[in-house]
Amino acid sequence: EKAEIGLIGLGTMGSNLALNIAEKGHRIAVFNRTPARTQAFVESAGALRDMVVPCGSIEELAAAIRPPRPIIIMVLAGDPVDQQIAALRPVLAANDIIIDAGNANFRDTMRRFEELDGSGLTFIGMGVSGGEEGARHGPSIMVGGTPESYARVEDVLTAISAKYKGEPCAAWLGPNGAGHFVKTIHNGIEYADMQMIAEIYGILRDGLSMTPKQIAPVFAGWNKGRLESYLIEITASVLEADDPKTGKPVVDIILDRAGQKGTGKWSVIEAQQLGIPATAIEAAVAARVLSSMKDERLAAEKAYGANTLKFAGNKDEVLGDLELALFAGKIAAYAQGFAVMAGASKEFGWNLPMPTIAKIWRAGCIIRSQFLDTIAEAFGKADRSTNLLMVPAFVEIMGKAHPSLRRIVARAAEAGLPVPALSSALAYFDGYRQGRGSTDLTQAQRDFFGAHGFERIDEPGAHHGPWGSGS
Ligand code: NDP
Repeated sequence: EKAEIGLIGLGTMGSNLALNIAEKGHRIAVFNRTPARTQAFVESAGALRDMVVPCGSIEELAAAIRPPRPIIIMVLAGDPVDQQIAALRPVLAANDIIIDAGNANFRDTMRRFEELDGSGLTFIGMGVSGGEEGARHGPSIMVGGTPESYARVEDVLTAISAKYKGEPCAAWLGPNGAGHFVKTIHNGIEYADMQMIAEIYGILRDGLSMTPKQIAPVFAGWNKGRLESYLIEITASVLEADDPKTGKPVVDIILDRAGQKGTGKWSVIEAQQLGIPATAIEAAVAARVLSSMKDERLAAEKAYGANTLKFAGNKDEVLGDLELALFAGKIAAYAQGFAVMAGASKEFGWNLPMPTIAKIWRAGCIIRSQFLDTIAEAFGKADRSTNLLMVPAFVEIMGKAHPSLRRIVARAAEAGLPVPALSSALAYFDGYRQGRGSTDLTQAQRDFFGAHGFERIDEPGAHHGPWGSGS
């Protein structure tokens, strides 16, 4: 019996996705560049072995699938994807669908759509989030392509996706690069979310002198309220864990040098290209970069002396403020992420459905949370391009939360504790809600040295200042 679907790339994500697909009753043909990995995969398939057709070559893979063939590529992003597409082209036929499910840069996805245009083959660029566990038991799936091509794979994608109260976390979001773009911004938001949690942990550890074991229940408690989310949940679990080798809390033996694979950076680059402020995400990416400069930081600590400033305030009162500060920072970061998507939607003509995006992020993905349900509901009633900070439900929520963010950022600054993402989020909010800012001066300077002109508040048109020869 022929397989219904194919998959290339049996690494961490591909092998788990293949088992997920097989488990949902879809016979799947698989191929991996290194045959040993295919062998190991087949041996690990257990009860699902009968649903899997191992293939030793791309030709064998194509022959094993019933046309029109949907084939998922889940390999390292970049050149390997182009290589697999090139290898597939001669063995596929009209109407077959190539689905790139890796973390592609959406600009590569746009190019691949163009390259396959007129070939008779259909292409889908699909963002998948949820890590290994999500791939195996239900990821969040963000699809870019034609609605017709999505309709052809919708059944299998909704079957393998996560469910939020029964609703599948898989959706068609727009043409060509839309799915991979949304996945990139998902990751950018994830960077900001994680960085703000780490900043709050830093305040609890260094500002309030709490141990990991004392901090864990704080996060566990927050996970029962408005901050309920996967990232807060795992933060509590991480802080509880001890290192088997030394018996110390695991976090205390982990080097404070963060890695990154590039999707956060892409979010920031695209935000800059689109002219949309995404400062909390930028701060989070920069914080990982600064963290990697461990030797330089140690030298600087020596040069300036270790920080001995104290965090002011009564502990219980500070704990309440920290929770609300984290929530306010999160709102600003999500507002920025959604604003970047709104900007791209306009630029590329995607008409991205914001409530749907919030909905398919409610389960399966790394940033899944209760909060996304609130966003989905609030966005449901708003125009697609509205900034989250201006959606009525959020005007009320943020109105109550920002004073806590302000107190925490101020106290952290006084105590010499870095809170780059939280303070960027606050500065964004303060700038956003300030009807008259201070760039009147910037405009004057630009006109002074470069004759760039400025607009007047009382008269239309371009004007120049009375600066003499410079103007
Ligand atoms: P792994 O490193 O586990 O596996 C990589 C796979 O890519 C292997 O099957 C490997 O084959 C294949 N590969 C690499 N180079 C080539 C090539 N030149 N030609 C053919 N095949 C190649 O990666 P992951 O499963 O973690 O990631 C796969 C994709 O999914 C990436 O785009 C990643 O960014 C994305 N992703 C990963 C997530 C995660 O949590 N890990 C989450 C969401 C997306 P071989 O065995 O022959 O080396």
